[in-house]
Amino acid sequence: MIRFEGIHKSYPVHGREVVALHPLDLTIQAGEVFGIVGHSGAGKSTLLRLINGLETPSGGTLTVDGQALGTLDGDGLRRLRRRVGMIFQHFNLLSARTVLDNIAFPLRLAGVSKAQARARAQDLLVRVGLEAHRDKYPAQLSGGQKQRVGVARALATEPKILLCDEATSALDPQTTASVLQLLDGINRELGLTIVLITHEMDVVRRVCDRVAVLDAGHLVESGPVAEVFLHPQHPTTRRFVAESEAIDEGALQEDIAHVAGRLLRLTFTGEDTWQPLLGRVARETGIDYTILAGRIDRIKRLPYGQLTLAVTGAQSDEALRRFAQAGVHVEELSR
Ligand code: ADP
Ligand code: MG
Repeated sequence: MIRFEGIHKSYPVHGREVVALHPLDLTIQAGEVFGIVGHSGAGKSTLLRLINGLETPSGGTLTVDGQALGTLDGDGLRRLRRRVGMIFQHFNLLSARTVLDNIAFPLRLAGVSKAQARARAQDLLVRVGLEAHRDKYPAQLSGGQKQRVGVARALATEPKILLCDEATSALDPQTTASVLQLLDGINRELGLTIVLITHEMDVVRRVCDRVAVLDAGHLVESGPVAEVFLHPQHPTTRRFVAESEAIDEGALQEDIAHVAGRLLRLTFTGEDTWQPLLGRVARETGIDYTILAGRIDRIKRLPYGQLTLAVTGAQSDEALRRFAQAGVHVEELSR
């Protein structure tokens, strides 16, 4: 659906070039929820704005929905933008228009009659659960409601792609969860391709299928969320995961100093998460273990567990073998 080939972007600032994105290759498949995570200034918004032609690349080829962006004239670009909706951190609603008219606005711009635009907006209001608020103004809505209006407005022109620029960053955790649920539903029911940029790995964990990590304009890691989240390779990715897991590395190192044995990290995914494996292997091999850190949760709909253990006992090699045999990913950590 979206293909970046050698795409890079610099901005002229006071007569010199500031590099926002170094040459990168990236493919986003139709129907997936793709996350891009990175710190402030990493180049996330630039990357997103290239997709709907709000920014022009300094070089490389960008193909969106089968069309090379560089070859489009003004008309072609406008048609493409109707197939690409966008939502924003600060909602960008029109304060002097009602909820219904905010949602109808892109259709009016596209030349749809007022009656038709409002009828379509009414359907979208229902989809995002705001029927009761149709005649209110944005100032009368909560942050979560405003973002729902943003989503409905973005869907008005029936886009194939939805771009989300830090769409939940101004919302509290509970509202974030409900907006992410809405996006997940839209992705599943309408088959919309969603590209979501965020500085929070937890947002990626909840809704994304695949993820790319941007660090100072470099794409440093990408892959299925389960892989990147459970086995991060790049130091920047590791930091994002540790932040989202609320792991205090210093405290963990202190705890580790207090316990004897081999340090292991076991990762269970899917059905394995629910097997009573740890106790069984301990009984069978006579090992003992201390749990130092752990989390049982879900990556989108995939259950997973990740435990850091200190293991003692003569049969620890055999225990490791049995864990691995049962499909558990076993890593030995150094002290
Ligand atoms: P992010 O969304 O990850 O915070 P941005 O894509 O907004 O990052 O910015 C990436 C880099 O490009 C930053 O160094 C930023 O200052 C610079 N930048 C972004 N937009 C412009 C612009 N219009 N003019 C000049 N520099 C810009
Ligand atoms: Mg940004």
